[in-house]
Amino acid sequence: MKRPVGTPLRDDFQLVREAVPDAPDGGMVVRNRFISLDPAQRGWMDDAPSYMPPIALGDPVRATTVGVVESSRNPDFRPGDWVLGLNAIEDFSVVLPGGFTSRINVGIVDRPSRYLSAVGAVGLTAYFGLLDAGQPQPGETLLVTGAAGAVGSMVGQIGKIMGMRVIGIAGGAEKCRRLVQDYGFDAAIDYKGKSQDDIAAEIAAAAPQGIDILFENVGGAVMDAAMLNLALHARVVLCGLISEYNSAQKVGMRNLWQVIVKQATIKGFLIAAYVPRFAEGGARIAQWIAEGKLRVDEDVQHGLDNAYDAFMRLFSGENTGKLVLEVD
Ligand code: NDP
Repeated sequence: MKRPVGTPLRDDFQLVREAVPDAPDGGMVVRNRFISLDPAQRGWMDDAPSYMPPIALGDPVRATTVGVVESSRNPDFRPGDWVLGLNAIEDFSVVLPGGFTSRINVGIVDRPSRYLSAVGAVGLTAYFGLLDAGQPQPGETLLVTGAAGAVGSMVGQIGKIMGMRVIGIAGGAEKCRRLVQDYGFDAAIDYKGKSQDDIAAEIAAAAPQGIDILFENVGGAVMDAAMLNLALHARVVLCGLISEYNSAQKVGMRNLWQVIVKQATIKGFLIAAYVPRFAEGGARIAQWIAEGKLRVDEDVQHGLDNAYDAFMRLFSGENTGKLVLEVD
């Protein structure tokens, strides 16, 4: 196995078979049932400064998982408990004492994988990213990039709940149709095959008064086009830059001068900073789902031996909703 350079290759990874370990003193073994596949994992594969240490070469790929406690020597968890934790792409994970794991109530969701999507990090990123970092006001205009994806589709819908005019940018006609018809966006722009100038012109046509909040998931030419359409005192929530994750050379933003022109604010957002408020956000999201105000799609792929192909769906844009690997 090796660290990917640019786009990850199949040969960068290995499927390794080992005996299932025993629970360590004070810890437990979790049988993973659903594994979250996230763009962030690509960053964790690089040996670069980040909010977490890089995945060590030879270690399994770090991932958030939902699973069932198989064996426990931790008095707070019993075999059979459903748990959410930061583990890895593997059948069984050893959770050491003090490792991040929390018990989840699968009785209140239609399927346990919801703890990786709607009421998991994705939903909470959309919730706190828009409401806390973005500070939306009714009547304002929101532009979401990567809009048909897991985070983006929820950001747009929460924007509508907040009374905003919502425009989404996504790749392809079918995703744009889904933005308007399935998620209730006011307008959708297909960026595929278009120049920065063309995308900027389409944003200008959809938002003649400018963009009050740019929720940025993508970066590159799409973000550059959006920056040319900021309204005065706009807020840019910098959530992700997926167009750069597989670039050995980072591209960066070319229209940064628009921040000065529009007296705008750029806020870097990291969901890990909101852990103490997860219960608050999760409850509000669950309520919106129960009221039929929020639709959350999952793209469930199957089998650990399919992990590489499944992961790459994030970068080809094939995923239709939160990408989850179900361990069969
Ligand atoms: P998505 O479900 O949105 O899947 C990724 C999508 O990105 C693809 O479907 C594709 O959609 C788009 N994409 C991929 N490559 C490119 C490219 N080169 N140019 C433009 N678009 C591209 O994933 P998530 O919802 O899980 O994540 C979305 C973003 O949110 C990511 O940037 C991620 O890093 C970020 N994030 C940040 C968090 C934080 O705390 N800051 C937490 C969680 C996520 P399309 O077909 O439209 O191109």
